[in-house]
Amino acid sequence: MSSAPAPQRRRITILGSTGSIGCNTLDVMAHLGGSTAFEVPAITGMSNIELLAQQARTVGAGFAATADERRYNDLKSALSGSGIEIGAGPSALIEAAERDTDLLMAGIVGIAGLAPTLAAVAKGADIALANKECLVSAGDLFGAAMAIGGGRLLPVDSEHNAIFQVLDQHQRHAVERIILTASGGPVRNHTREQMARVTPESAANHPNWSMGLKISIDSASMFNKALEMIEARHLFNMRPEQIEVIVHPQSVVHSMVGYSDGSVLAQLGTPDMRTAIGYAISHPRRASLPVERLDLAKLARLDFIAPDETRFPALALARIAMQRGGLQGAALNGAKEAALDAFISGRIGFLEMADVVAMVMDRLDDGRGAGSIEDVYAADSEAREIAATLMRKSA
Ligand code: NAD
Ligand code: MG
Repeated sequence: MSSAPAPQRRRITILGSTGSIGCNTLDVMAHLGGSTAFEVPAITGMSNIELLAQQARTVGAGFAATADERRYNDLKSALSGSGIEIGAGPSALIEAAERDTDLLMAGIVGIAGLAPTLAAVAKGADIALANKECLVSAGDLFGAAMAIGGGRLLPVDSEHNAIFQVLDQHQRHAVERIILTASGGPVRNHTREQMARVTPESAANHPNWSMGLKISIDSASMFNKALEMIEARHLFNMRPEQIEVIVHPQSVVHSMVGYSDGSVLAQLGTPDMRTAIGYAISHPRRASLPVERLDLAKLARLDFIAPDETRFPALALARIAMQRGGLQGAALNGAKEAALDAFISGRIGFLEMADVVAMVMDRLDDGRGAGSIEDVYAADSEAREIAATLMRKSA
């Protein structure tokens, strides 16, 4: 008697498995059947070797890589006897991304995620994209690479995932605008004078989503929303004027699409990244997930407030970057990273972050486009250097 062939497991590689997105992805996969449903060709992390090794053993990863070259031996001893192949450094990240897979979760934070994600794109894998910096800094390049690679691009950022859920692909001509919601963060009601005195600790105290320090501060300054406007432009092929932002303190409406008949379609849910991750990795099916259900009666109300761009200049900077195009997204992101580091270490104030970014963008506004990934990394470094020089001068 011959037994039926085992059903094929879906292959999912996770870049940045030790981060918030990575851990949530593994959690979603565990709920959707774990190793009976999924195979994990590769996972990557950086400094948390213990967690990386533990994850690799739990899911039986084929390959585990740390971005930090110096941690090769640590990872080797942590995985000794497991049979899991290991690697370290930037080339190991590329190797992880290039291993055969059905879908790659791009969960690395920052521009460091660009090269490995593009390597997976070139291999034709479907890409679940959390790493927004890929599109902010290299949107045109990324879009062209996706078209050649032939994989699907599945947004994970909650706002973009929401839009993806309600964007009718058969009615693209009828899409007038997309409306990104922003919580407004902990300084939403501050005056400019109060904002000038905000500390990294108070800025990071996000009311709805639990996230890392940097992304929480980016939410408070609305630089996160600025990045998301540029991300949305590239993901959904929108003109800058079609992208709106509305402050919505409850973070229940995750974003909306406005159509030519006046309809506005929204996706709602409790703030839990696992919904977006589950949707992206299960698409076109819907997963069954243990996230808290929305209790609308308990919620009672949803508020919407127009954003104040004099207090949140990051939004205007995103629009300028979109209008100028080329490498302005890379300039905005690189300068923002440098300014954010300076704010965290107490060298500049909360409001000065936007001033630095604006000056760097003007300095790099020379019409240059991104011909290659090297151009993007060069613009990113240049933006950081100019920002550092400006901040030294003003100190
Ligand atoms: P995180 O800091 O929690 O994790 C980042 C991951 O990337 C870790 O695995 C870390 O080891 C790895 N990493 C860090 N620096 C690296 C480097 N230089 N080279 C290679 N690997 C490196 O970040 P996160 O919150 O999981 O966010 C990941 C991405 O998803 C970001 O682009 C973020 O904007 C986006 N995102 C996150 C959330 C969220 O809820 N956390 C929501 C929407 C979008
Ligand atoms: Mg988001």
